Amino acid sequence: MPRFIFVAGGVMSGIGKGISVASIGKILKSEGFKVTAVKIDPYINVDAGTMNPVEHGEVFVTDDGVECDQDIGNYERFLDESLSTLNYITTGRVYQSVINRERNLEYGGRCVEVVPDIPNEVISRILKSARKTKADFVLIEIGGTVGEYQNLLFLEAARMMKFKYPGKVLFIMVSYLPVPKMIGEMKTKPTQTAVRLLNEAGIQPDFILGRSSFPVDEPRKRKISIFCNLKPENVISAPNVKSIYEVPINFEKDGLGDKILNEFGLKKKKNDLKDWKKFVRILKTAEKPIKIGIVGKYFETGDFVLKDSYISVIEAIKHACWYFKRKPEISWLSAEKYEKSAKSLKELKNYDGIIVPGGFGKRGTEGKIKAIEFCRTQKIPYFGLCLGMQLAVVEFARNVCGLKKANSTELEKDCESVIDVMPEQKALLKEKRYGGTMRLGAYKCELKSGSKAQKAYGEFLISERHRHRYELNNDFKEILEKKGMVMSGINPERNLVEIIELTKHPFFVGVQFHPELKSRPIKSHPLFKAFIKACIRSN
Ligand code: GLN
Repeated sequence: MPRFIFVAGGVMSGIGKGISVASIGKILKSEGFKVTAVKIDPYINVDAGTMNPVEHGEVFVTDDGVECDQDIGNYERFLDESLSTLNYITTGRVYQSVINRERNLEYGGRCVEVVPDIPNEVISRILKSARKTKADFVLIEIGGTVGEYQNLLFLEAARMMKFKYPGKVLFIMVSYLPVPKMIGEMKTKPTQTAVRLLNEAGIQPDFILGRSSFPVDEPRKRKISIFCNLKPENVISAPNVKSIYEVPINFEKDGLGDKILNEFGLKKKKNDLKDWKKFVRILKTAEKPIKIGIVGKYFETGDFVLKDSYISVIEAIKHACWYFKRKPEISWLSAEKYEKSAKSLKELKNYDGIIVPGGFGKRGTEGKIKAIEFCRTQKIPYFGLCLGMQLAVVEFARNVCGLKKANSTELEKDCESVIDVMPEQKALLKEKRYGGTMRLGAYKCELKSGSKAQKAYGEFLISERHRHRYELNNDFKEILEKKGMVMSGINPERNLVEIIELTKHPFFVGVQFHPELKSRPIKSHPLFKAFIKACIRSN
C-alpha cells in the first residue's frame, strides 16, 4: 500500500507550497522510493487552459496534453519524471465526472450528494494516480489556503483517507511566519490560527514547514509545538533561500526525509542527493553573466512584474546557463515599447540572446516582429518559442520574401496567411469549443540531417510538447525555403513544420513546440543549451 502525504497551506498563498511538495518528493526519491505528486486546484475551470496567464501564471502542458497548473512543472523538474492527467485535479474535473456518471445512471438511482460523493471522487482519483504510477509515496498538494471555502471538500477527502487508511496518511502544513519590522520578532500566532482552522476540518498536521525570511529558532519551534499540538522536531525551518533548488538541501538540514519515513515506520534505502548538491553548488557560485532578454507581454500587472507567466522558459534558460557554469541574467522587455519607438530596439544589442516566448492575440505582436527583425539583421542569437517561431516566419516572409501583407490569421483575418489555422481547428473555433481543443501534448518531429536543431539534439526523431492552434502554412513553404529559411523539423504524421532556422546567423531558430516544458535542472534541454552556447560565443 502506498503512503499518502497531503500538503496544505496556512496563513497566505504564494509562500512556496508547490516547491515544498516538489522538494519533499525529491528527498524521498533520493532515499530510494518511487514518488508521484498530485496538484489539486480548487477552481471551477476544468483545466488551466482557459485562464489568463497574468492571473494564473504559466499553463504547463504534459505529454498527454493536459493544460495544467505550473506546479506540475515544478514537480516534473524536481522529480525528473513526466507526469500526466492523473496528477492534476480541479473542482471542475471532479464535478464534471460526477455529473457525467450521474447522467449515465451509474449511481444506481440513488441521490448523489456533495458529501460524500465529491470527496469520494477525489479519493478515487488519488488512488488511481497511485495505482497507475506504482508510487510508494503520493504527495497531494491542496491548492489555496486553509480556511478558504473553496478547498473544504478536498480537506474532507484528506480527512476521510486518513480515517480509512490509518498509518498510511500524513499531513503537512506549509505556513507563513511573519517577522514584522516594527516588532522585530518572528510571530507564530497566524500559524496557530491556521492550525485551528485545519483542526476544524478534522485534520491535525503531523509536520509544519515554517516559511519565513529567517530560520525558525528553537524557542519558536517549541512554541509552535505546544500550541499546535505536534512534536517540536516536526516543526521544520524553511527560510528564504537564493534559489528554489536549494530547498531540498535545506529541508534535509532539519532531517525532514528521515522524520517522514519515521512517522510511517519506514527506513531509507539510499541517500542520493550528490548530483543535486553539485548542481546547487554550481548555481550558487557561477559568476560570469549571460544576459538574455525575453520580449513578451504577460508580465506587467499594475506596478508589479509578474514572472510566473514564463516560469518554464525562465527555468530552462537557467538550467542551460548553469550547464555552462554561467550566471543567467534575465530581463523583461516589453514588446509594445518597440511598436511605439523603433529607436528603443537598439537596447537589444545589450543582450547576448533574445527569446520571444509563446503568446496569444494581437497585442504586442508587431513589436515582437520588429525585435525579431533586429535580431536577424544584427546577428543577435534568437530563439522563438511557438508564437516566437510563427512571428519569425511572418517577419521573414515580409522582409525577405517581399510578402508585405504576411501575417498569422490569428492576428489579421485578411492577410497573406503564412501562419494559418488547420481545417479541424477552424470547425472548433466556429463552434466556440475553446477548452482543451488546441494541438496539445507530445508529437513526433523528424529532424533534418546536419541542421542546427539536429546537431543540438544529436538525434533524428524527437518528441516535444505542443499548445497552439495555428501552424506554418505549407503553401508558403517553397518561397520561404527558396529565400533561405530551413525547415529543419517536420511532424511526419501531418507534414507540419515544427522547426525553422536560418543558416547564415549565429543562432536563429524557431520551434512550434514548447521545449522549455521538458528542461530539467540536471538535464538541460538540447535546444536551450545550443542557444546559450551561441550566446556565450557572441558575448
Ligand atoms: N497563438 C498561437 C497559436 O495558437 C501560438 C500559441 C503559443 O505560443 N503557445 O498557434
